[in-house]
Amino acid sequence: MKRTIIAAFLLASTPTALRAQQPVAPAPSPAALPPVDPKVAALRDAALKDDTAWSIVEGLTTEVGARVSGTESEARARDWAVNKLKALGFADVHVETFNVPLWVRGEEKAWITAPFPQKLVIGALGNSAATPPQGIETEVVAFDNVDALEAAPDSAVRGKIVFVDHAMPRTQDGSSYGFFGRPRREGPSIASRKGALAIVVRSIGTDYHRNPHTGTQRFAEGVAPIPAAALTNPDADQLKRVLARGKPVRMKLVVTPRLAGQGQSGNVIAEVPGRDPTAPVILVGGHLDSWDYATGAIDDAAGVAITTAAAKRIMDAGRPLRTIRIVWFGSEEPGILGGRDYQAKHGKEPHWAIAESDFGADRVWRVNTRLGAGRDNEARAVQAALAPLAIVPGELDEADGSDIGPMIEAGIPAVALSQDGTRVFDLHHTPDDTLDKIDPQQLRQNVAAWTAMLAVLSGGIEPGAKQQKRR
Ligand code: ZN
Ligand code: ZN
Repeated sequence: MKRTIIAAFLLASTPTALRAQQPVAPAPSPAALPPVDPKVAALRDAALKDDTAWSIVEGLTTEVGARVSGTESEARARDWAVNKLKALGFADVHVETFNVPLWVRGEEKAWITAPFPQKLVIGALGNSAATPPQGIETEVVAFDNVDALEAAPDSAVRGKIVFVDHAMPRTQDGSSYGFFGRPRREGPSIASRKGALAIVVRSIGTDYHRNPHTGTQRFAEGVAPIPAAALTNPDADQLKRVLARGKPVRMKLVVTPRLAGQGQSGNVIAEVPGRDPTAPVILVGGHLDSWDYATGAIDDAAGVAITTAAAKRIMDAGRPLRTIRIVWFGSEEPGILGGRDYQAKHGKEPHWAIAESDFGADRVWRVNTRLGAGRDNEARAVQAALAPLAIVPGELDEADGSDIGPMIEAGIPAVALSQDGTRVFDLHHTPDDTLDKIDPQQLRQNVAAWTAMLAVLSGGIEPGAKQQKRR
């Protein structure tokens, strides 16, 4: 017990950057894995000095900033991406556009009006409906989780503002996001069905800052949209303490987002041409769009930066057998719209593997693969190449990703390089998602991992056969 307390204290008192650099998993025994091609090892180790990923994440967050789906800022980000990818020397740099619904944030304010009047800090959730400009004021009814809300009689909810708690614990693999994200994703539809006037949920985050975590939610078919917002973690704690006094609690809410028709989004695509143009391509990437509260450094400028830097290192080393295709997906945040557009346009083309980086910028600690039948040796070769970076071999029949999720479900072979998610949800979708949170050393470890993975899967690089620049 005492040990637990000391450990918790140490964790709480260690500076964030230091904490994030501590190894989180032991390296596997090299004896269990096949030998690594020295050329792959050399590419991997050289990537630990990479500066390209930093130049992308620093440039995109500084010169464009927030990149909101379907807006002019996302269009500027596409232009920036095209220029950058061409300047780096990639081939066939182009944009594939598609239309998306536009939801525009407005005012977002909240107060407890009784029994202890005070201001709260909130952020509207994606697709939230608006209150009248003067707001709404009514009684609060609280639930510990979505199941409790679901089980409540409609009469307990009707005409009220629903508050759903459900504090999310910190996990290395980020697995808590799926479960504890339910109040945000499902809460608004359930509350609306039961006749609530509005819903506020505890932010889906692990920080203790007064920052709301925004994020998307979609009202279920046939459900009337209601105002839906996230309370910061400290404000959710405060509301709970006020509720625990046992007196009726009233809240005023002013939330004024609007739907603004259609906007244009797009995927930015570039390639490292392979020696065999008929061979299935390897897709790597991240998403270009971000939420509006910050510059989207960890979500997901880092992802496009890491994967692009790795592809450039392969390109600069010579010519791979298979084409590497880089995709900077648009409109991931409102519901992986870029991923779905890519799938509609390219999902039938043969892909050797697909992989996405979208979980921050901290070090990779595990590699999962789902390459399919007969490709275990290739998966083992990837595991072996990554092991010296303290990356543990994971499953051989499992992979995940946001934009590439539907394609993985459709059976396209995939790789997942799992990043340490311990502090991702301190920053995710908040005003704190800024460049200073990225540790350049851990960013380089990511580039080394992706470079090694690509070096193995691209089927061998022929030195001196560097691609001719096109376009
Ligand atoms: Zn993301
Ligand atoms: Zn996100």
